[in-house]
Amino acid sequence: MRGLFWFRNDLRLHDNPALAQLAEQCDQLLCVYVIDERWFELTRFQSKPLGAIRSQFIGEALRDLQRNLGEQGQVLLIRSGRPERVMADLIDTYNIDIIGITRLPATYERQQVAYLVKRYPTKQWLIEDSFTLFRQENLPFTLEGLPDQFTRFRELVEAIPVPGITSAPRHLPTPLDVNAASVNFFEIFKPPENPDLLMPFKGGEVAGLAQLHYYLHETGLVSVYKVTRNGLEGWDFSSKLSPWLAQGCVSPRRVFAELQAYEWQSGANESTYWLYFELLWREFFQWLLYKHGSRLFHLRGTRRINPLLTFYPEAFMAWKQGTTEADFVNALMRQLQLTGWMSNRGRQIVASYLVNELGVDWRFGAAWFEEQLIDYDPASNWGNWQYLAGVGTDPRGKRAFNIAKQQAQYDPEQIFINKYLAVRNQ
Ligand code: FAD
Repeated sequence: MRGLFWFRNDLRLHDNPALAQLAEQCDQLLCVYVIDERWFELTRFQSKPLGAIRSQFIGEALRDLQRNLGEQGQVLLIRSGRPERVMADLIDTYNIDIIGITRLPATYERQQVAYLVKRYPTKQWLIEDSFTLFRQENLPFTLEGLPDQFTRFRELVEAIPVPGITSAPRHLPTPLDVNAASVNFFEIFKPPENPDLLMPFKGGEVAGLAQLHYYLHETGLVSVYKVTRNGLEGWDFSSKLSPWLAQGCVSPRRVFAELQAYEWQSGANESTYWLYFELLWREFFQWLLYKHGSRLFHLRGTRRINPLLTFYPEAFMAWKQGTTEADFVNALMRQLQLTGWMSNRGRQIVASYLVNELGVDWRFGAAWFEEQLIDYDPASNWGNWQYLAGVGTDPRGKRAFNIAKQQAQYDPEQIFINKYLAVRNQ
């Protein structure tokens, strides 16, 4: 039996149930990753789907995966193009019998899989939920019945157990003999312009699991998470797991399992619970994307209401470049561009400013975040943007942040502002 595993946002060997099943079922295996050519094209929101900092992270994650597969005698074939075409070509050329995939909620990714399943109905398809904590069949409601408000969702899912993790395959089948070389992804992914300012994010399963260990067992920082989580800058005030979760270098179930182990060893408190609470926000947005599909990207949102419909190119440019009238917003936007990261508090503040003070169509902001963020995740990004723009799942409607008040609370000495405005003025 000839198998093919299509790595996407599951760049790991641990807790990868589709890969584990495929390893059991086939004699020869082809492992593939596809760099989508559309990631580098400008969209109608004037941003690209993938910027330099995240592409470097993905490059590192691919190298790590190549190494980990190599230890089991396997290889990772990396191609670029339209994913569904590349996959169809490989399935035909190598006469593949069985294909393994982790299910993803984003619309293009779903369309690609739906196209392939339809095109190859006689092939065996192993499609598993491991990008989320829960499998769809575990959920105590149908997708149509998914509550559109987080609190109700949380109450319902907190009553059910999180599935256990799947061990990494102990042995992978021998690689298929493929007479094609991988593309040189470090040539495709251009390096970031200011490497000195980057935060210590390093792509890959090894680095992701190390960060999980660091934040929980090594430092116990998770025990004060609820108090520190609204920080603006620094490594230790929040878990920093988001880039690894977004690329699937670490699975959410693994985070949950380690959190439980930590609570047994070191005690549970409000902070340890709060990390789970935030993982449930991530979970909520994933299932919301499964439920609403492309509506998560629509101007009128999942609530189907009409927001302010304007687009001021100068105002949007000023926001992007960090040259608005609000220095706090400018510093945050510079942080995003220079480091690929921004705290949750910062994201809320700059999103509110774009929507409420500048009156710009929220989708331009979401698309800029998509390009810039090292931890871009379709459901979390567009879901949070809709929430803040008042067209999503916030029962309170549009939330406007008072920028001066936020600055007085989170950067009273202007240390953060001075740091990033100084970088701009160099
Ligand atoms: P922690 O505070 O340590 O939280 C742990 C994990 O919980 C995170 O890694 C993340 O997976 C999840 N989480 C925490 N808060 C949220 C939230 N509000 N929504 C969904 N998941 C959450 N997160 C992304 O991962 N990718 C995005 O593209 C993204 N875009 C955002 C856009 C806006 C406008 C806003 C307001 C928030 C966005 N978030 C996004 C959510 C949140 O800001 C980040 O997950 C968080 O700041 C990442 O840092 P951390 O890993 O240290 O988080």
